[in-house]
Formats: sequence, structure tokens, C-alpha cells
Amino acid sequence: MLTVEGISAGYGERDVIRDLSFSVKENEVYVLLGANGSGKTTTFRVVTGVLPPSKGRVLVNEVDLWLEPGSAKRKIGYLPEGERIYPDLSVYRNLLFFAKVYDINGGRVDELIKEFGLERYRNVNAGNLSRGFRKRLALARALLHDPEVLVLDEPFSNLDVPGVLSLRDKILEMIRMGKVVLFSTHIFTELQHFEGVKCRVGIINDGELVVEDKLDNLLSRVSNIEIGITTD
Ligand code: ATP
Repeated sequence: MLTVEGISAGYGERDVIRDLSFSVKENEVYVLLGANGSGKTTTFRVVTGVLPPSKGRVLVNEVDLWLEPGSAKRKIGYLPEGERIYPDLSVYRNLLFFAKVYDINGGRVDELIKEFGLERYRNVNAGNLSRGFRKRLALARALLHDPEVLVLDEPFSNLDVPGVLSLRDKILEMIRMGKVVLFSTHIFTELQHFEGVKCRVGIINDGELVVEDKLDNLLSRVSNIEIGITTD
């Protein structure tokens, strides 16, 4: 379980996110929905141990991420917006490189290549893959150390429809397998992808959580105010 308690953080003097709290359980996805610049990536940097908070705590299964980073970070898999894979290395070498960084058995690389349907591209440089397959590779990389918590920063951005659907299916599979998933987007309609699973949505505006609700409740609230989005 991931618990975020009253975190504030920023760059230099200014906190760009303020007093954010939420929690996500196993088999559940939490969607952070907000416009560009609202603070989603900053939140994810704090949650993944990249950017220290000026206030608040992040707990991964009761372990404080910022007090005991070693054990807590190991439980987190992060898919940043920029993917963080090497374009000049093949699919196999990308995964092998990160496996060595994490000190993980190379057998896990073959397992993930198969699981993510990347066998055909095993020796293809990551830079030559389609965006959809690059994201798949990046997600496989985030899963190398079999993390309990998956943090996915705008994973659908710039993907075509088949790319979104295939990545969506992998994410749903992860949720059903019991992972804790934190997902961000600035596109309201992406919420529809999570209608079949346990999903809470937090709306972030200018660094503050302004609304939090179950996805179903949020969709019916929105359809009630008739802005053209319905729950069916
Ligand atoms: P996007 O979808 O555009 O990435 P976001 O919701 O993820 O937006 P953040 O990237 O967290 O938002 O940005 C929140 C605020 O922090 C913005 O005003 C942004 O300009 C500022 N910011 C982000 N990164 C830095 C940085 N490295 N240094 C200074 N300010 C930053």
C-alpha cells in the first residue's frame, strides 16, 4: 500500500505542490488528473524518491520512503514521462543494462521480453521501435525488480489508439495481479480505461488536490452537470 501524507515540494524556495494526501491499495489504481504544469510530475518525483519533500511523508507498506529509501524504493517501479531508455541499445541490452544496475538475474530479462511481446524486437535498437513498443519496453524496465507499486507518468501521451489499448491492457493486468498503480494524465477521457477496476481519481490544480472521489462517482457527477461525458 502507498500512503502519501501531506506532502509539499518544489524547486528552490517555491513549493509547487502543497499538502497533498492520498493512498492507494493493492489491486487499485489512483489517477492523478490535472492540466499541464499542475504538479503531477513533481508529485511522482517525491513518491519515487527522486525529489525530497519540504513537508510530509510517503509510506510504502508502512516504510517511510524518505527515512529508509533503500528498502522502500526497491518496491517502486517508475515509468517517467520521458521513458528513460537508451535509444542506441537493443531491447535486450536496455533491459540487461538495468537488470545489472539492479543486480537482477538476466533470466528476468527474457521473461519480460516474452511477457511484453517484444521477442520480434529483441535485437532492434529501442530508438527504432514505434512509440507504443517503446512504452512497452519502458514499462517492462519499470517491472524488472518486480515492484509492488507502479508509478506511471502520462504513459498514454503521444500513443496511437492501438498503442494505448495494448499498454492499457498491460496496466489492467498489473492491477489485477495485485500491484498498486499510480497513474497520471491531463486527458479526462483516459479515465474510461479504468472503469472495470477499482479506481480513485484525484484532481490536482495548481499544486493542490481539489477533488477526490471514486471513478464511478466522479463520472456520474460529471454526467449530471451535462458537459457531454456520460458513464455509458
Ligand atoms: P506536465 O504534464 O506539463 O509535465 P505536471 O502536471 O506534471 O505538468 P510539473 O511538471 O510537476 O507539472 O510542474 C509543476 C510546476 O513546477 C510547473 O509550474 C513547472 O514549471 C514547475 N517545474 C517543474 N519542473 C521544474 C524544475 N525542474 N525546476 C523549476 N520548476 C519546475
